[in-house]
Amino acid sequence: MKTMKWARIGDIIVLNREADDPEALLEMEGVRSVIRVEGIHGPLRRPRVRVLAGSGTETVHKENGCLFRIDLSRVMWSRGNINERARIPSLVEEGETVVDMFAGIGYFSIPVAVHSDPGRVYSVELNPDSFELLKSNITLNRVEGIIEPILGDCREVAPELDADRVIMGYVGRTHHFLDAAMECVRDGGVIHYHETAPEAIRFSRPLRRIERAAHPRRVSLLDKRVIKKYSPGVWHVVLDVRIH
Ligand code: SAM
Repeated sequence: MKTMKWARIGDIIVLNREADDPEALLEMEGVRSVIRVEGIHGPLRRPRVRVLAGSGTETVHKENGCLFRIDLSRVMWSRGNINERARIPSLVEEGETVVDMFAGIGYFSIPVAVHSDPGRVYSVELNPDSFELLKSNITLNRVEGIIEPILGDCREVAPELDADRVIMGYVGRTHHFLDAAMECVRDGGVIHYHETAPEAIRFSRPLRRIERAAHPRRVSLLDKRVIKKYSPGVWHVVLDVRIH
């Protein structure tokens, strides 16, 4: 049987399997409902959830000084990226143009707009449910003048933009989007590229893919990090690269 994992998102407890007595969790202070995420599906990362106790799947989650309105029955919350959500804003320099290719509800865009001083953040999102929440989060965090949300496929949108920094969060086949990122990133710009890869090639395969997409431009590896274990023997990693 799967080990029980749980997280608290706003006033909702999220479990990865059935609990013996979910009603008991409602006694924790400020908890309104207990839900189980049964799976995350497709490229739009749509969750399938069941309410085990209490009611409601929409909440406002606070993390690192940012507010995220989220409906857990419609969009996913990635716990694994918590360190990334704090790290990326610390790298953004004043006046930069940032393109967040898989913006979701603003996981990276909101902390960048709140904690850094970019010129502009273009947040591209394909799922209309996530896009509605992204717009709501821009208002909630009062960063309307900084973030421009764009509903669309980043393969079409990103090549039309010029960025100093491109954020490529994890979407399953992130490497299929590298060509669009290369068209978007300026010379000297940075890409944060997420991929899942088997242990032995967890950094070499993503780097090879980036170099192939960048050719004839050059790639400098700035940083490489493990985000989390994705499945047995497979790691979710992020590489920071500069494209010259
Ligand atoms: N940046 C987030 C992170 O790593 O925490 C990723 C959020 S979620 C895992 C990925 C998001 O990318 C989803 O909201 C999905 O709808 C969106 N997405 C998938 N394909 C897309 C595409 N072609 N263009 C824009 N957004 C896309």
